Amino acid sequence: MKKAGAIRVFSDFDGTISAKDVGASLFNHFSRKRNGGTVQLWLEQKISSRECLWRECSYIDASKQELLAALDRIDIRKGFPEFVSFLKIRSIPLHILSDGLDFYIQAFLARNGFDDLDVHANNAHFVNGSLYPSFPHFVAGCGFCGCCKGERINSLSNNGELTIFIGDGFSDRCALGAADVVFARGDLETLCREKSVDCLPFADFFDVINYVEREIL
Ligand SMILES: [Mg+2]
Ligand SMILES: [Zn+2]
Repeated sequence: MKKAGAIRVFSDFDGTISAKDVGASLFNHFSRKRNGGTVQLWLEQKISSRECLWRECSYIDASKQELLAALDRIDIRKGFPEFVSFLKIRSIPLHILSDGLDFYIQAFLARNGFDDLDVHANNAHFVNGSLYPSFPHFVAGCGFCGCCKGERINSLSNNGELTIFIGDGFSDRCALGAADVVFARGDLETLCREKSVDCLPFADFFDVINYVEREIL
């Protein structure tokens, strides 16, 4: 699909930029797995992302410092630093879209040398030792997502741009109707197959670079 013109890239964070799901790891560990039933209800679409995050935050029994210390155990996906440079050199914008929480995304990225990336996510607030989420992007979205990736792609992209989305999970499903090209792994790849949505499987960001270089630029 050789295509000239402007390109805009959107990427999920958890399990896509991070090699494993940071939010899930934190919620599982620091709620002592009390969140399992809640996540299941969310996967079955019986509760929204907002409800899911509200409940999961209420189970957390740890300080912000304890939560952030756990980030050291999680790796960044191979090729992400090279992908950021690849886009920067070509002036291709990159937006990180997440239905997780901003505090661990920003901290994880900063620890890996990225403190100037554009992140759209739900917000975390630490008040008197408790964690509360808020949802600045909710109103514009689909009503189920806290931060709806379909809505974000539509509102951040300009007419005529080729939009590329990269993701790995159920929270990416609204991006499927919005992005022109979808790179998928994990549950998102399965979902694409179930819904007969075209996607490009990827293992790491070198696969994405190679494809964009070969087929799009
Ligand atoms: Mg994900
Ligand atoms: Zn949505």
